[in-house]
Amino acid sequence: MAKLIGIPASPGVAIGRVLPVDRRRARVPRYHVQPEQIDPEIARLDKAVKESVEQLQQIRKSLGEGEQGDILDAHRMMADDPTLLEGARQLIRDELLNAEWAMRRMVRDVSEKLGSEGYLAERRADLDEVCDRIVHNLIGEQPLPAALPADDSVIVAYDLATADAAVLLSSGKIRGLVTDFGSKTSHTAILARALEVPCVVGAGQASEIAKSGDVIAVDGHSGEVLISPDREEILRFEMARAEAKFREAALLEERELPAVTTDGRRVYLQANIEFPEEVASVLAHGGEGVGLYRTEFLYLNREELPTEEEHYRSYAAILKQMAPKPVVIRTLDLGGDKLPIGHRSHEPNPALGLRAIRFTLRHPQLFRTQIRALLRASVHGELHIMLPMIAAVGELREARKQIEAIKAELAGEGVPIAEKIPVGIMLETPAAALAADRLARECDFFSIGTNDLIQYSLAIDRGNRDVAYLYRPLHLGVLRLIQAAVDGARQAGIECAMCGEMAGDPAYALVLLALGIDTLSMNPSDIPPVKRVLRTANLADAKKMLEAAMAFSSHDEIERYVLEEMKKRFPQLISDAGRAAGERGL
Ligand code: PEP
Ligand code: MG
Repeated sequence: MAKLIGIPASPGVAIGRVLPVDRRRARVPRYHVQPEQIDPEIARLDKAVKESVEQLQQIRKSLGEGEQGDILDAHRMMADDPTLLEGARQLIRDELLNAEWAMRRMVRDVSEKLGSEGYLAERRADLDEVCDRIVHNLIGEQPLPAALPADDSVIVAYDLATADAAVLLSSGKIRGLVTDFGSKTSHTAILARALEVPCVVGAGQASEIAKSGDVIAVDGHSGEVLISPDREEILRFEMARAEAKFREAALLEERELPAVTTDGRRVYLQANIEFPEEVASVLAHGGEGVGLYRTEFLYLNREELPTEEEHYRSYAAILKQMAPKPVVIRTLDLGGDKLPIGHRSHEPNPALGLRAIRFTLRHPQLFRTQIRALLRASVHGELHIMLPMIAAVGELREARKQIEAIKAELAGEGVPIAEKIPVGIMLETPAAALAADRLARECDFFSIGTNDLIQYSLAIDRGNRDVAYLYRPLHLGVLRLIQAAVDGARQAGIECAMCGEMAGDPAYALVLLALGIDTLSMNPSDIPPVKRVLRTANLADAKKMLEAAMAFSSHDEIERYVLEEMKKRFPQLISDAGRAAGERGL
């Protein structure tokens, strides 16, 4: 048996048989044509481009509405692009290149301008794929996989062409997908999420190790891939799959129902997203809004800063799809280790450095671009703006002042914006939690970022495995900070949400209910189990449990007590799996 760990890109568990799919790059014949062959050569090129466009239109038609269709539209537009075609024709005319060579040269020149990393590199992969299709058509090869997959197929590929992924995944026969290469932002990963096919990308040498027909097990939640697993391992995956199915059943039953306890306390359940494409999954899992959109993903993995238009398009798309549900868009949490390509940080201590709101206030131009786009998009839905890592009232005042100035600027330009746009802050430092009563007077809502709050209060680098065992959400100090944040919000009459990973763990749901959190925001697939806990819970009972838990002094004692109590109440929902110290919340 071989075990690989890749990047979990689409949740769910799949067990099936390996279907290897090659990224079949076309071999490009290279030769010079005679001057008198120029016209027929150009005609050959035009014909292949036309065929490619028609094929892409056909595939597009079979896909229906949604993300997968949009990607194919983009491919068709690339194939149909007059600049590309004219450039290739020119090479045939001027340099007497054959059509295949001319097309490949033209695409290579355009690709080089796009760079080799990040978002534009993915567009480059799209362009390569379109070029491959045209070359396949020129040399008379069939560009799509000929055989239809069997019902239990798990695709294993070095990398999967988007159009091939779209056709294969939407056949309804693919149980899972594993690629050696790729990232969570690749189009193939986005497609897998949109089509709800469990997927692991960046799994190293899967395509070299796995042979056609081998049994393979894929866990899209943990990133685990087992090739030719033994019976015991298959059983473990089957149990995980049954558990996932149970979650799915809960989802279908309770998706439209509110998270309200048996004694009437209503908690709102929202979702965290990094990409606009995840909105469908938010709605499918019953998300009552987006509680955190991490906009820094617009900036990462690319060389150029996103334009105001790009910001606007992302925000408008999310707001429209979610309307009338609220969408909390967090302004840039850049800085420290999260920087666009080419903007390396040389800070000795990035987590304590120029990050989040500090970074933004130091670069008002970046903030302005983002806020202009946000305000313009506000007419499309229920926008809430959230400022990350506010540690001092002064930062909040300065950010709000800049937002007001930009509002006035847009009003001067006659640009309409929503009448009411709440501005809230993330509480992520102990100082902010302890000063919550004052901060609450000057903003419209709080959201507690436990990932950072725990890191800063317990002095644990959230990315450092060596101290992961000390990362304890139920540390008495952390619970008291959460309590202080909620108290501060209550005094000022504003809402207090939580959007760190702690919010999505069903084992902590009663503790957070008792602490008085109004809204929990989490990964979309965590919503159903948390909702189930809350709908069967009782606030009075949760409060008693919290009181008993906080009477203990050590985090071990608190954790043991809470887990035991939760397992007693929800034996099917709370397990010890993945609960080794530090495995959650990092
Ligand atoms: C947090 O710190 O809890 C949070 C939600 O923000 P991020 O994980 O993006 O730092
Ligand atoms: Mg944070």
